[in-house]
Amino acid sequence: MSVTVRFAPSPTGHIHIGNVRPALFNYLFARKQGGTFVLRYDDTDIQRSKDEYAQGIAEDLKWLGINPDRVEKQSARFASYDDAAAKLKEAGLLYPCYETPEELERRRNRARAMGRPPVYDRAGLKLTDEQVAEYEAEGRKPHWRFKLPNHTANDPFSCVRTDVHWDDVIRGRQTVDLASLSDPVLVRADGTYLYTLPSIVDDAEMGITHVIRGEDHIANTGVQIAIFEALGAKVPEFGHHNLLTTSSGEGLSKRSGALSIRSLREAGYEPMAVCSLAVLTGTSHAVEPAKTMEGLADMLDFTGISKSAAKFDPDDVGHLTAKLVHGMSFAEVAERLKSDGVAGDEKFWNVVKENCSTVNDAKKWWELVVGSVTPEIADEDKEFVSQAKALLPQEPWDETTWGEWTKAVKGETGRKGKGLFMPLRKAITGLAHGPDLKNMLPFIGREKTLDRLS
Ligand code: GLU
Repeated sequence: MSVTVRFAPSPTGHIHIGNVRPALFNYLFARKQGGTFVLRYDDTDIQRSKDEYAQGIAEDLKWLGINPDRVEKQSARFASYDDAAAKLKEAGLLYPCYETPEELERRRNRARAMGRPPVYDRAGLKLTDEQVAEYEAEGRKPHWRFKLPNHTANDPFSCVRTDVHWDDVIRGRQTVDLASLSDPVLVRADGTYLYTLPSIVDDAEMGITHVIRGEDHIANTGVQIAIFEALGAKVPEFGHHNLLTTSSGEGLSKRSGALSIRSLREAGYEPMAVCSLAVLTGTSHAVEPAKTMEGLADMLDFTGISKSAAKFDPDDVGHLTAKLVHGMSFAEVAERLKSDGVAGDEKFWNVVKENCSTVNDAKKWWELVVGSVTPEIADEDKEFVSQAKALLPQEPWDETTWGEWTKAVKGETGRKGKGLFMPLRKAITGLAHGPDLKNMLPFIGREKTLDRLS
């Protein structure tokens, strides 16, 4: 069987690291199986869905290295949903209800007060033609509910335990009792669709073989299997993964700006650091940065995904990025350095990369070479620095120059250790830390060094 999966975001905001988890579980699974990955925009909510968000999602996925084989939009597929709704109505499985939200709330409260589960009582099925006519005359429009197959053969009001099972590819055997659920509303009173029916119709028509998504959808799955079956469609395999939360247990909402892919990208973090953290947190695999999608795919094992929350520390995006950057070859960063205005060569990159938390940091070290440095010389070091200046070796310079120079300065001034190196470092770079001066000095050159030592 060839695998087809989908990532189905609603374009109502920017995606964050928590959304990357299902996106990658699907994408990596498809890559591993030689399957197809569909990006499906769940944009049936016309009010809240925006093109700019859809475009933003496409850009973010591209930056992460997730390339869809196919892109679909629910807003272009209403005819299919209308057909499915008509089919269900004809079969008597989609029925009109006229309760207002306030009436429903009151009924739920009453049920709770009487110790009953707040399950919808199918009052819509009992309406007489006169009652319907009355509601319509009042200007009420019906919403439409799917009649769950959780009752005896001829009586929808006599509910019986009806277990729906599936073998979840992540969590193993799952069971939902349909008698514990209300008939789901599939169509709102204004005629718009809730997520459920379009998602099922798409999964069926697009040949989705595996639905991999967050565990917040487990209860939906019982309902969805019933609707797949009512439509005579093949039920896909399901997998429900734990959700990413921050260490304090906080969930990630689409609006949690700092962890949006956009802001992580702008902060200079590496896409593979974001991907590795999003995938490996809350699994049996150690959280370490994968260099490539192929490498990450090899680390992914659905059976190793934990059933408890996937807690992560947002600072780890930085730690994983730094690890990746330290291991990058010049060839991997050359283009980026160039576009950052860093003209340093391979030797330069190898000298500074250990001191780069992000690739962008190379720019800071390049500044030391090209000259815009404000030397820092404390009053008590002025005399010392000028003595050192007088001892600065002639060019050509190489990695031995620093040792040769500081040895001479030590001999002349009697200073050693930090008291010797730090004033020179601060004068030459304006900073108290940075790449080894032994390696930096040949790039800076004698003329600029002399300049900064005064
Ligand atoms: N648009 C839905 C969501 O973002 C998709 C859920 C699903 O994968 O079925 O929750």
